[in-house]
Amino acid sequence: MSACPRVAYFCMEYGLDPAFPIYAGGLGILAGDHMKSVGDLRVPLTGIGLLWDEGYTRQVLGKGGALEDQYPKTARDAVRRVDARVEVTIKGKKVPLRAWKVERYVTSDLYLLEPEREGDRWITQRLYGGGTEDRLAQEIVLGVGGVRLIDELGIDADVYHFNEGHAVFAGLELLRSGKFGGTSLAQKVAKLKKHIVFTTHTPVPAGNEVHGLDIMRTMDADCGFSDKDLATIGGDPFSMTVAGLRLARIANGVAELHGETARAMWKDVKGAAPILSITNGVHVPTWQDARIRAALVPDKKRVVQDAQLWEAHQTMKQELIAEIEKRNKVKLSLDKLLIGFARRAATYKRADLIISDDKALKKLLDQGVQIVYSGKAHPKDTGGKALIGKIVEATKKYKKHVVFLENYDMTLGALLTRGTDIWLNNPRRPLEASGTSGMKAAMNGVPNLSILDGWWPEGCQHGVTGWKIGDPDPKDDALHEKDTARIDTRDRTLLFKALDKDVLPAFGNRAKWVNIMRASIEMSEWQFSSDRMIEDYVAKIYRPSSGR
Ligand SMILES: *Cc1c(COP(=O)(O)O)cnc(C)c1O
Repeated sequence: MSACPRVAYFCMEYGLDPAFPIYAGGLGILAGDHMKSVGDLRVPLTGIGLLWDEGYTRQVLGKGGALEDQYPKTARDAVRRVDARVEVTIKGKKVPLRAWKVERYVTSDLYLLEPEREGDRWITQRLYGGGTEDRLAQEIVLGVGGVRLIDELGIDADVYHFNEGHAVFAGLELLRSGKFGGTSLAQKVAKLKKHIVFTTHTPVPAGNEVHGLDIMRTMDADCGFSDKDLATIGGDPFSMTVAGLRLARIANGVAELHGETARAMWKDVKGAAPILSITNGVHVPTWQDARIRAALVPDKKRVVQDAQLWEAHQTMKQELIAEIEKRNKVKLSLDKLLIGFARRAATYKRADLIISDDKALKKLLDQGVQIVYSGKAHPKDTGGKALIGKIVEATKKYKKHVVFLENYDMTLGALLTRGTDIWLNNPRRPLEASGTSGMKAAMNGVPNLSILDGWWPEGCQHGVTGWKIGDPDPKDDALHEKDTARIDTRDRTLLFKALDKDVLPAFGNRAKWVNIMRASIEMSEWQFSSDRMIEDYVAKIYRPSSGR
């Protein structure tokens, strides 16, 4: 793509392939798809990340039914050492770093850093593991180490893209190095700003990282900033999101609605970059099954396409059913509606919404509905683990109808978004920033049934491309944390109503259903592809004229 300046892209995690688990969830998958599309479209962008020694948890159900976290070593057959060394200072100690280049899965340039010495490897041991000091050490390696690596590799980056606040140390390093000039802090920031863009990903306040100034300074001992300077950049305590917004020329949320939410959330931050919306997308060759593409090639009659589309879907559903039988010893039916729900076990996503009213659930299951779940909780998130516990209870009670697949990863993500009949999403609006799994489902002919949150207000034509669960009441968007009981009860009623009145009747009519599958694919293939997303990033964010 022409006229795009050189970009250096920073992210803590990359979801490239199930065999290379240096990702935890949506943020990583998005970054992986970003790198894949950048390669396909030949955008001059270099990615920087960390080589996690053990990656994220492999989470399984133990004998007693409790979740166990396992940490297998990350295989290194997809990376090659490069001849580039840099050094950072962490807690006053020099930490030499080495770099690896990812050789598989992407055609773009992606470098991963790790400490050279065994004794410093605690820093990159586990993605999102450890406490505050570990987190800050990781972010120093990513940000400070990343900026130095870009220089060491001789890459003349003009734009530095911080994908989430984890990369803010890169901004501190660029200020410290004086790379873009200026004498006073205000001048330096003004000059630096022209080169930084920032993507924020979470409307959940707790998801926005904050640290005391003292620990920021202890960890980043060659910091070079006074407390006053640090507070000017990120506030006191230091907020990574506030700093990202203040250091950037332009920022973005990851769906139209999320952009709005983020603008409201950060409106009082003085000196913040304007926040646009660039809706996420997924890498079509990775996430759309080739059989779906084959069914819909244009030189066939519509009836032939429809027949092949249905055939392809049934085959993929059968593959999922076979995998469930292999893993869980439960045989689901090919003919009955199969609802899919797979996500991180964050409470706002309400995985338990549909199973919390036993009478309504029983009635639904008696109508032949089946539900397949998957999910992972952060190893320290007891609330998330309890949520999975609740699902596991439901699978015991309704053995033939409700199943839970352990260790949600890219393999299951792909299998489930191809092989289910509908994709359910019922977060507390507006807390789902985007939600890319629904896009994967949509482009495989698995229509979404979802609250109008994240990307879905942009993709939903009710009854045509899928279904909404009720209409949002903007008043409630502000109340989602105070008034959860009422909102949850209301949304649950609306969910059962949508299943009963909209989804089940449509599923009973093959011709109608196939039309919805088609509309879902046509709606999503381009609009929610990472190619479209990259074109937007180039046009609206990366180009130097944008946001000035
Ligand atoms: C796509 C995907 C996600 C992100 O999906 P959400 O809809 O944002 O929950 C997370 N984890 C895996 C393994 C995925 O494949």
